[in-house]
Amino acid sequence: MTVTSTEPAVRSCDPATAVTRSLLGWGAVAGPFYIAVSLAQASTRDGFDLTRHPWSLLEDGSLGWIQSANFVLTGAMVAAFAVGLGMRHEAERAGAPLAGVLVTHPHPDHYAGLAQIVGTDEVPIVASRAVAAVIRRDDALKDSIVGPMMGADWPTERIFPDHLVDHGDEVSLGGFTFRVEELGPGESDMDTLWWLDPATVFAGDVAYDGMHAYLADGRWTDWLASLEALEARLDGEVTLHVGHGAPGTKALLAQQRRYIETFLAALDAHADAVAAGDHEPVLAAVRALLPSDDLLFLLDLSIDPVQAARL
Ligand SMILES: [Zn+2]
Repeated sequence: MTVTSTEPAVRSCDPATAVTRSLLGWGAVAGPFYIAVSLAQASTRDGFDLTRHPWSLLEDGSLGWIQSANFVLTGAMVAAFAVGLGMRHEAERAGAPLAGVLVTHPHPDHYAGLAQIVGTDEVPIVASRAVAAVIRRDDALKDSIVGPMMGADWPTERIFPDHLVDHGDEVSLGGFTFRVEELGPGESDMDTLWWLDPATVFAGDVAYDGMHAYLADGRWTDWLASLEALEARLDGEVTLHVGHGAPGTKALLAQQRRYIETFLAALDAHADAVAAGDHEPVLAAVRALLPSDDLLFLLDLSIDPVQAARL
């Protein structure tokens, strides 16, 4: 997200609508950020049933993964202050010491709530050097744009990755080893994948599952290329743990590509309406492909900056 791309869109809605839409939208966010915890203690305790533990703040899809590999939590919406604290509380209740945090990419819904989750624990917040650089570069801008949108739920204390790695490096957290792969620009200015094993990858927002997407960073050409390359390269058995929605197969990549192509075609087809400030025809065309309102505000925020960049 950049100031140049986002400011006009934010200004064009009235503040109350923007805030409501934002909170509803972010409420549907299953975060692109992962907490590695060691559940060794919890899972050996008599009567502890991981499958029934009330991970109430996690989105559906992530539960299956928690059951199968009890140490990395996905699906935390970390941008919001209250949710960050809630996640922290749930981890403590599970008797699951926080081992560290992996940050997949520099968007605020993936890093802004880190301080609430980490608390006073001295655990590494891990990101690739390039991801961490973009977070630091853009944080003041995000504070000025996303802060007013989220109001009191925007964390005023924000901390940044402090354990920086390079493409291909491995990191051990809670007894698990993750390898980072930098994809380059795509959904964000720097997308990364975190591999747990050859069949398990945390993919951030490289693909969304059944939710609308944010394209206002303007890297859609890179994103499409990245999706195509991954489709060709990834094994059919790979499970992608995405930031927004349930884990899925690499079919998510083709879906995401179709989504972006549908959006771009809709901008072409409805250029006059967009120029006149009317987003509805574009939103309707994309909703015809994906009839959901989840994160629709992200798509709405993307219309003006993407159209401006294409003209
Ligand atoms: Zn996201």
